[in-house]
Amino acid sequence: EDGGHISASHVDALVRKHAPLCMRNLHESLRRDKHLKHYGRLQYNLFLKDMGLPIEEALLFWRRSFANKTDEQFSKEYKYNIRHGYGLEGKRVNYPAKSCVRIITQDQPGPQDNHGCPFRHFSPANLSAALATHYGLAPAEQSEILTAVKAEHYHVGCTRLFELTHAKKGIRKGDGLGNGESVNHPNRYFERSWEVSRE
Ligand code: SF4
Repeated sequence: EDGGHISASHVDALVRKHAPLCMRNLHESLRRDKHLKHYGRLQYNLFLKDMGLPIEEALLFWRRSFANKTDEQFSKEYKYNIRHGYGLEGKRVNYPAKSCVRIITQDQPGPQDNHGCPFRHFSPANLSAALATHYGLAPAEQSEILTAVKAEHYHVGCTRLFELTHAKKGIRKGDGLGNGESVNHPNRYFERSWEVSRE
């Protein structure tokens, strides 16, 4: 699983260890529902591509994840869009993974959707529950994040989450992604988490 050679079977562990909340939420929703709606698939597929998951492994990952679908349903309803995201269908555009600004401002999620940015789109109660469930953050640790989010500083909340969850790696408040930068892209969050964990 060195950069660029990630396989379908690595995704669970890598996402649970290194992904920001938006992608962790999509991953857990996919595991729970064995399905993701269109914009969720779009957001997560491009993230996984940027993470270095090759197309063959992406198709395997999605096929296994949609466990309630037949091979025929999968081929007919989902395969094209996954390949499309990799620039292998239609106009063959190699779409970049979405940045935080795009995730926060475009394609606003409805009640049944799981895409978007949890710092922006979750209720305070749901955000708090997600921080506790996925990252084990106690209420005291969450308070700064919730305060930043209340002031509509979503990236600040996400950056603080990175700092708190990498404290054991020597990341302190104000260190951001360990290089002083704050979060502006889910894949940069992921990459920095992976790098920091190896240092
Ligand atoms: Fe994802 Fe960016 Fe929101 Fe963090 S701030 S959860 S990386 S969209």
